[in-house]
Amino acid sequence: MNHDDLRHWSKRAADWAHDYHSTLRERPVRARTRPGEVRAWLPAHPPEAPEPMERIFADFEAIVPDNMTHWQHPRFFAYFPANAAPASMLAEQLVNAMAANALLWQTAPAATEIEQVMIGWLREALGLAPHFTGTIHDSATTATLSAVLTMRERALGWAGLREGLSGAPVLTIYASDQNHSSIDKAARIAGIGQDNTIKIATDESLSMRPDVLDETIRLHKSNNRLPAGLILCAGGTSVGAFDRIAECVAVAKAHDLYVHVDAAWAGSAMICPEFRPLWEGVNRADSIVFNPHKWLGAQFDCSVQFLADPAPQIRTLGLRPEYLETPGADEITNFNEWTVPLGRRFRALKLWFVLRAYGLEGLRERIRNHVAWARELAGEIAAIPGFQIVTQPSLSLFTFRYRDSDAETEALLERINDDGRIFLTQTRHVGKYVIRVQVGQFDCTREDVMCVAEVLRELAG
Ligand SMILES: *Cc1c(COP(=O)(O)O)cnc(C)c1O
Repeated sequence: MNHDDLRHWSKRAADWAHDYHSTLRERPVRARTRPGEVRAWLPAHPPEAPEPMERIFADFEAIVPDNMTHWQHPRFFAYFPANAAPASMLAEQLVNAMAANALLWQTAPAATEIEQVMIGWLREALGLAPHFTGTIHDSATTATLSAVLTMRERALGWAGLREGLSGAPVLTIYASDQNHSSIDKAARIAGIGQDNTIKIATDESLSMRPDVLDETIRLHKSNNRLPAGLILCAGGTSVGAFDRIAECVAVAKAHDLYVHVDAAWAGSAMICPEFRPLWEGVNRADSIVFNPHKWLGAQFDCSVQFLADPAPQIRTLGLRPEYLETPGADEITNFNEWTVPLGRRFRALKLWFVLRAYGLEGLRERIRNHVAWARELAGEIAAIPGFQIVTQPSLSLFTFRYRDSDAETEALLERINDDGRIFLTQTRHVGKYVIRVQVGQFDCTREDVMCVAEVLRELAG
């Protein structure tokens, strides 16, 4: 296989991709694979001699597509979306062809500068204050880890980086029980610990209680603990909870805590001004993460972190040994100093393509449709006997339950996903097993969304 062959096979791959996407609705959304099935088809040992691409491609077609869950299927309503708009796929092909590592400005000037401009475009698109800069990570998990490490070091006066944590005071960070597990993971990895990741009680609207936050921080201070930061939830993964950011940030700032807002899913919706009251107060945050790779159409991986001031994070994560110096260059940004990994993909190109190919109006229209259709669908489901909406739509996410029974709801979910026309997933809310529906696939239609009610009517009872 050489670059001339690559030209031929790239065209084959483009044709394959077109056929795949144009026939997705005929496929079951969730893979029907049994565990171990794919492994069993592959030879146990690597080939010694080169194989013809014809055979490799044929095996791909025979083995892979039928054993995938189809995230770009227009009736994928599980988890959160991982949208890949066609313009994003095209950008990724070009990135793939150059295969650059954007670790330093010098190693990929266009990648670095387009990244800077895209952060500016997105800041404006989301209605954030002009002081925010930022960077692109692989995932929200990494962005949150970066923020938690920064919280830790800022609270320790940057002593932890040199001395380790063994002699350090016991650090605490705060979040609500609606936050994503990536906060727990970050606290574990950052050496803060799960037990020092304090889950503040929420009220009946599932928002963190600022009075409880304040009391808890005061108590910890009087017990010689060192409160380091607050992580707020703007669109929780389970049922779409929002903290009242303005009130909670005010408490955190009064105690000099670093504030990170996790808007991994819901951040994309903020391109629509009417949804921005949901994260009122966000401009006082130190760090905000949102995933264009979820709802905006820039495919995985593409997670944007906005920073009010990048200096504390660069001080925490940045290292510049001699072999990473760029002689004679000041005034440049080396984004590896803002992030955990050294090597970085050119992720900004797909943002550039997506924002231009659809325009903010095109993207807003999709998100507004998703929100409207989710509300309409929730109304339909509520009217089917035996079904109960447990959490009302938060943007385009709601949950329901069947016959008010964990077992019946779980059994129904299995029937739904075996059926294959749609794909839904579960969560637990206030102790009860519920089924989640999120509407957000880039190309889904109102008909695709209403198909959920049809499937439920058919498969219930
Ligand atoms: C999806 C999600 C995450 C994790 O996102 P990754 O990019 O997969 O790490 C974190 N927080 C929230 C609220 C999410 O919805």
